[in-house]
Amino acid sequence: LVSRKKKSEDTVITVNGERIGEGTPSFIFGPCAVESQEQVSKVAEAIGGKGLRLIRGGAYKPRTSPYDFQGLGLEGLKMLKAAAEQYNLAVVTEIVTPSHLEDALPYLDVVQVGARNMQNFELLKAVGQINKPVLLKRGMAATIDEFINAAEYIIASGNDQIILCERGIRTYEKATRNTLDISAVPILKQETHLPVFVDVTHSTGRRDLLLPAAKAAIAIGADGVMAEVHPDPAVALSDAAQQMNLQQFDEYYDSLMKFMKQY
Ligand code: PEP
Ligand code: MN
Repeated sequence: LVSRKKKSEDTVITVNGERIGEGTPSFIFGPCAVESQEQVSKVAEAIGGKGLRLIRGGAYKPRTSPYDFQGLGLEGLKMLKAAAEQYNLAVVTEIVTPSHLEDALPYLDVVQVGARNMQNFELLKAVGQINKPVLLKRGMAATIDEFINAAEYIIASGNDQIILCERGIRTYEKATRNTLDISAVPILKQETHLPVFVDVTHSTGRRDLLLPAAKAAIAIGADGVMAEVHPDPAVALSDAAQQMNLQQFDEYYDSLMKFMKQY
């Protein structure tokens, strides 16, 4: 059902007035994790100030170590929702288990399924039964075919509002956190009718690569870019090395807008 052969025209997903997949790149910015009301409000103000319509932030964090910050859960999601409402933003947030979905749904606009859960088939079926868009991230060791099959689980359960997100794959290369598989973008665009995003933060894991990676994503035809922004990345409870501070975010967004005007 996600195949281009089944449906030749691009799927466009409308969230809070943003038309994802219609041609002009969309942007999802926000902190890695919700840490406090003040933290998310500052980021929401910066995003809203640019006229953007989406904010991300993790409340249920899938962390590699059980001793790392696990997120504030529903309380954190409520903080994100409050900040988003103040600046007219839609909330993109990760859900890690079907059992959280019902409680979390009123506070989110787009459900993220993270890389670690790309083949959590019960979660895929559960988000397939809601009527809100799903941002599905590629598993860190998933082939493109497996990624497409994960999306197929969601659409087969009834939800065709799916955004695919390339976020880097695990390779032998250690210079970046993951290896951004940039050619996955045009392949996914050819094989499916779904919008394709690139997460430049988790793919590169390096602040200095966020801009070139986003330019590459846009140039190769991505429908949008995701990147993490935090008021004070040095004290962030997760992903301190790659989040942008608010001034870096300003410069980053300006540079991207200039780059896009060349097209
Ligand atoms: C995230 O976007 O917050 C995240 C954990 O990313 P990924 O699932 O791609 O690792
Ligand atoms: Mn992160």
